[in-house]
Amino acid sequence: MPHFDLGALAYGADYNPEQWPREVWRDDVRLMGEAGVNLVSLGIFSWAQLEPREGQFEFGWLDEIMDLLHEGGVRVNLATATASPPPWLSLAYPDSRPVTVDGVRLEVGARQLYCPSDPHYRALSVRLARKVAERYGTHPALRLWHVNNEYGCHIDQCYCAQCAARFREWLRARYGTLIELNRAWGTAFWSQRYGDWAEVQPPRRAPSFPNPSQGLDWRRFSSDTILDLHRAEVEVLREVTPDIPVTTNFLGFLPGLDYFRWAQEEDVAAVDVYPDPAGAAPHLEAGMVFDLTRSLRGGQRWLLMEQATSAVNWRERNAPKRPGLMRALSLQALARGADGIQFFQWRQSVAGAEKYHSALVGHVPPERSRVWREARDLGQELRGLDFLRGARVKADVAVMFDWHSWWALSQASQPAATPLLPVVGAWYAALRSLGVNVDFVHPEADLSGYRAVTLPQQYLLTPDAAQGIRAFVQGGGTLVMGPYSGVVDGDDHVVPGGYPGLLQDVLGAWVEEWAPLQTGEAREVRWADGRVTPVTEWTEVLHADGAEVLATYEADFIAGQPAVTRHAFGQGHAYYLSTRPGAAALTDLLRGALHGADVATADLPDGLDVTLSDVPDGQLLHLIHFGPQAVTVQVPQASDARSGQPRTQVTLQPLEATLLRVPADFTLGQLVARPAAVPT
Ligand SMILES: [Zn+2]
Repeated sequence: MPHFDLGALAYGADYNPEQWPREVWRDDVRLMGEAGVNLVSLGIFSWAQLEPREGQFEFGWLDEIMDLLHEGGVRVNLATATASPPPWLSLAYPDSRPVTVDGVRLEVGARQLYCPSDPHYRALSVRLARKVAERYGTHPALRLWHVNNEYGCHIDQCYCAQCAARFREWLRARYGTLIELNRAWGTAFWSQRYGDWAEVQPPRRAPSFPNPSQGLDWRRFSSDTILDLHRAEVEVLREVTPDIPVTTNFLGFLPGLDYFRWAQEEDVAAVDVYPDPAGAAPHLEAGMVFDLTRSLRGGQRWLLMEQATSAVNWRERNAPKRPGLMRALSLQALARGADGIQFFQWRQSVAGAEKYHSALVGHVPPERSRVWREARDLGQELRGLDFLRGARVKADVAVMFDWHSWWALSQASQPAATPLLPVVGAWYAALRSLGVNVDFVHPEADLSGYRAVTLPQQYLLTPDAAQGIRAFVQGGGTLVMGPYSGVVDGDDHVVPGGYPGLLQDVLGAWVEEWAPLQTGEAREVRWADGRVTPVTEWTEVLHADGAEVLATYEADFIAGQPAVTRHAFGQGHAYYLSTRPGAAALTDLLRGALHGADVATADLPDGLDVTLSDVPDGQLLHLIHFGPQAVTVQVPQASDARSGQPRTQVTLQPLEATLLRVPADFTLGQLVARPAAVPT
């Protein structure tokens, strides 16, 4: 498998030169040199320029820009240019236009207008990918293939007749017989039994709740179908240019695509990350995606393929990144294992849908732009950080996450609407406030490399996943499981006999009944040490059956009954939370569980981001401060990672960062961080 290697950290942007006259191109390449740009993603939206009419190709302008970039020392991540089919394609082949859940066929004039099952779009996009690969496969600037763009960003499901036919094929392959499909979908209820394959449809708009097992299979099918389209391009690239690595840009926690599966197709994982600068904690929003991306390919280094230098254009209100935030988030990506920092886009458009999306070269000239200065300075700073490419982020702690469970949980008619990402985000934030590196782990992955595995809300657990979790705890692992987990199997069928059906022996506890709270409603739980803390959103009627009770409910019909339990099972321990505590109580519980699992933690002030990565002669300690108040951090035996000078105490102002070297046996238990003393 070819390996992406620029010989340095990558730095650059999407480059869309077709928006500009030739004289601007030379200026661009000169400015790229000034900013330390060594990689651009080229041609992502160039289909209409490269093939202005069906079968007529015009590569001259791209030849010119490829050569110009190469002469300027800029390498190219070349797109297959298939992301946005030109109007002629969509109009000549109307069935290539996707159809919504309500049966509306979408129109020309935006982007990503294609049905993943359409044979014409597929044939024409694969032909274009082949043309591009044959023409530029040996170009000296080419380093990486950028296949399509942000698959599933706008169109992650198409409900057209072609997709319906493929859905039936997919279901036949999965179930073999209608008897098995009827069983898996539970069609005995509501008179939904199918007597002929032709009766089976996508879950289009219906009078009431669609069948949830059908809805789950539809999401699986949709992810697989778009992946199949991706594979068709990848196969051509691997055939024509077997030595050039292939990637496509993921979108983090995108609902539509099972990236654990997708990532296995890539030579390097790449991701676009756009945290809201006006959000409560952009560094947690981004950090979660960085950690997910690293986890998708087992800890391999990855690429930050797109971020904004400042504001985006697609939120209701688009805040800029205040001075220093872009650099701090970029350093955070590097700390979490990124091999490069790229932006959308190099030069800000003056027309079109993204003209208010920030860029490196903005609407004001570079010499007047703080955004340019920050981007240029970061590019120069990266040249001193190439040694980070040898670092590896290892985590003792994992958060279990899986698209199939997310899809099942997203189906209608649940005990309560329970959006998954805020729950995962709360657990992630609590773990990160303890400083520990966090992986995201697929439920059926090998868990043996972790000391502690947390399940904030793993609604669906296959028998294989449950068996893996049981073996993990039996072998000495620590499990911390949140409510409404392990409820259904892979068909979205409840495992009866009390919840969670397959793990009651591991938990030493079982749930009789759910009692979701109303929006804004709170309850209290009393911990063994007498503390009383609030809980929200969800409670359960929980029975201990061998487990120790760590907290009980204070009121309502469950007063005095267990709320949180811990159970010794095999060599390990299993914690169960039947409710959602606030951040402080959740952090306390996780800290205790991690200490029990021999995982060292630190208590970090608000906003201090800590990452440890392994290097051959010790560890790197990345300290980046996103909080509002200065902090002081004491680290015994630390030295400055670049100068080698001893540096055992660091004060960080908001958005400052420092990189220390610590010995291989350093643990977070030795780190002391607190708000900096205010000068008198
Ligand atoms: Zn379709």
